[in-house]
Amino acid sequence: MTSRRPEILFPLFAELIGLPGIGPKSASLLERLEVTRPRDLLFTLPSGGVDRARRDTVQGAPLPGVVTVEVTVGLHQAPRSRGRPYRVFVQDAKTEFELIFFHPHVDWLQRTLPSGQRRLISGKAEIFDGRVQMPHPDYILAPEDTGDLPAFEPIYPLTQGLTQKTMTKAAQGAVALAPDLPEWIDPALVQRNGWPDWHTAVRQAHSPASQPDLAADHPARARLAYDEVFAHQLTLALARARDRKRPGVQTLGTGTKQSQVRAALPFAPTGAQERAVAEIVDDLAAPRRMNRLLQGDVGSGKTLVALMAMLAVVEAGGQAALMAPTEILARQHMEGLAPLAAQADVRVEILTGRDKGADRAAKLADLAAGRIDILLGTHALFQKDVSFHDLRLGIIDEQHRFGVRQRMDLGAKGAAVDLLVMTATPIPRSLALSNYGDMDLSVLDEKPPGRQPIETALVSADRLEAVVTRLRAAVAEGRRAYWVCPLVEESEVIAATAAEARFKTLRAALGDGAVGLVHGQMPPAEKDAAMAAFVAGDTQVLVATTVIEVGVNVPEATIMVVEGAEGFGLAQLHQLRGRVGRGGGKSTCLLMYQSPLTPSAEARLSILRETEDGFRIAEEDLKLRGAGDLLGVAQSGVPKFRIADLERQSGLIALAQSDARTFLAQDPELTSARGEAVRTALYLMEADRAIRLLSVG
Ligand code: ADP
Ligand code: MG
Repeated sequence: MTSRRPEILFPLFAELIGLPGIGPKSASLLERLEVTRPRDLLFTLPSGGVDRARRDTVQGAPLPGVVTVEVTVGLHQAPRSRGRPYRVFVQDAKTEFELIFFHPHVDWLQRTLPSGQRRLISGKAEIFDGRVQMPHPDYILAPEDTGDLPAFEPIYPLTQGLTQKTMTKAAQGAVALAPDLPEWIDPALVQRNGWPDWHTAVRQAHSPASQPDLAADHPARARLAYDEVFAHQLTLALARARDRKRPGVQTLGTGTKQSQVRAALPFAPTGAQERAVAEIVDDLAAPRRMNRLLQGDVGSGKTLVALMAMLAVVEAGGQAALMAPTEILARQHMEGLAPLAAQADVRVEILTGRDKGADRAAKLADLAAGRIDILLGTHALFQKDVSFHDLRLGIIDEQHRFGVRQRMDLGAKGAAVDLLVMTATPIPRSLALSNYGDMDLSVLDEKPPGRQPIETALVSADRLEAVVTRLRAAVAEGRRAYWVCPLVEESEVIAATAAEARFKTLRAALGDGAVGLVHGQMPPAEKDAAMAAFVAGDTQVLVATTVIEVGVNVPEATIMVVEGAEGFGLAQLHQLRGRVGRGGGKSTCLLMYQSPLTPSAEARLSILRETEDGFRIAEEDLKLRGAGDLLGVAQSGVPKFRIADLERQSGLIALAQSDARTFLAQDPELTSARGEAVRTALYLMEADRAIRLLSVG
């Protein structure tokens, strides 16, 4: 099937020039708003509105406020001294008031407001010195022009040089081009929500008659927002449906190795861990490919879930791979998992960029021959010459550090690899649905028992000395601490330099033997040694850059100091803080900042003091930073919505996901009448990826 934009949509994808009031100049101004076709104008909705309903008099109007009133122009009064305003007295049906102008063109004023004439005036009036004044009215219209002023004036987002009037006219022109389109939303949903049809929705959204018409939950706007997220969710659902059609391998674990490891654990898995393992094991056993996201806050115990899943694969005679974003994390997994796996006679190996020469060749040979059951590693797992005997399960730890690309690369390493991605960034539901909507979801919503709350405090950098003194006391008590240096976005090298400097001062203050250092610029062997010394307790303070942000697990560490906390994102700080509070001991997190803090930075940091709930922190982070930022624009699959508000309309997104999945289950090829309508919607919403998925069939 060839895919072409339906003809009915052509006018909306034509040029802007030719719309009422739009010439080459305004067209190029509109381009700055990412408006290049009438379609884009339709989806650029008024961001506000001004009530310009006419009144007889300013008397009794709520002031300060916008009033629109017909007046008879009275006397002009030029300023008596410099810096004072020019006044024009006007009389409405009941009272006299003043129009105020600073630095006016007097000629223009006399032409526009001739004494004795009737004028319609609209603008913000206020009471000053007991008199009603209106400085610089927005509109001064002669009686014959009053038709130009709508009772409720929509306010569009603008760019320098573009006026409301031009924008309003152009938008109305685009609305006039909008055709009637067949309904693509589930009729029951439309009815239940009282949504208008698409054409009506577009018309209403551009012709608000009062403030409530501008609200996101007004039926017209809600419908248009839904259209947007529905198109996106349909894209994800199409991708998921395609994945599911690809045959997978049935991997039936016997449970024997899992039980052996379970017996060797010093603790019992949490209910949430058990649930997640069961969901994954079910997926592995099914004859289709798994594509699952395991979401769990820092410290919720994702690694154990990963291990159990990998063991199930090994029980069935297959291989599994676990990829971590950093070398440190990969090694830590190796140290944690290999001894446990050995209990079940399972061989675990690690492959990173450091493996070279004969050792590497030997590992690769073992892997290809199936003598290695579980391979841990970094990106190095993707190298061309890495081939498995029978890779059944690929796991990506800390998925937020990777792009969608890596998911696919890992998937390509086996005939029908089941995929599990794990993330500790507790992304808000709306984002999870948008970014991972093609995946199934398991959530670890329960932490292992016995964790104590972490005490979090904000400390100004001026008090560095006091912090060091406290740290010295803590070290004397045998406690262990991380000291994280400021984030330097532009350069790892600068960050490393700062860390080296801090390392020196802390060594001087706490004693040479007590302090270790780890940063991204160090030779790998030194990094390992520094981590190992800290894990063993040989050093008690570990100065680090954000290389320890993800995954690092040293349960004995109970103090986290973050320097330059104001420069980190909330989610990142939450991750850092998550490095402590992992054992039974009481933990502390000190967020040091450079004074003075801006009010917004203070608000951000305070959230961390208030809560340890990663999901709440993520919601706040999303509100403060927006979606692209939170996931990293480059790797996020989240489209920029024009109307829908990811931050506030997660309900709509969940609805769209279930609608899209249900619909596709009934009409996978989009051949029904509604299917045809949905196709049109996908073109209208420019869901290119969906269209491609449809064309390849
Ligand atoms: P994350 O989800 O952040 O990757 P980890 O898998 O690193 O968390 O687990 C954090 C810590 O909790 C580890 O020390 C791990 O051994 C421990 N842990 C995991 N599951 C449990 C459990 N059910 N009970 C007690 N401790 C657990
Ligand atoms: Mg982890």
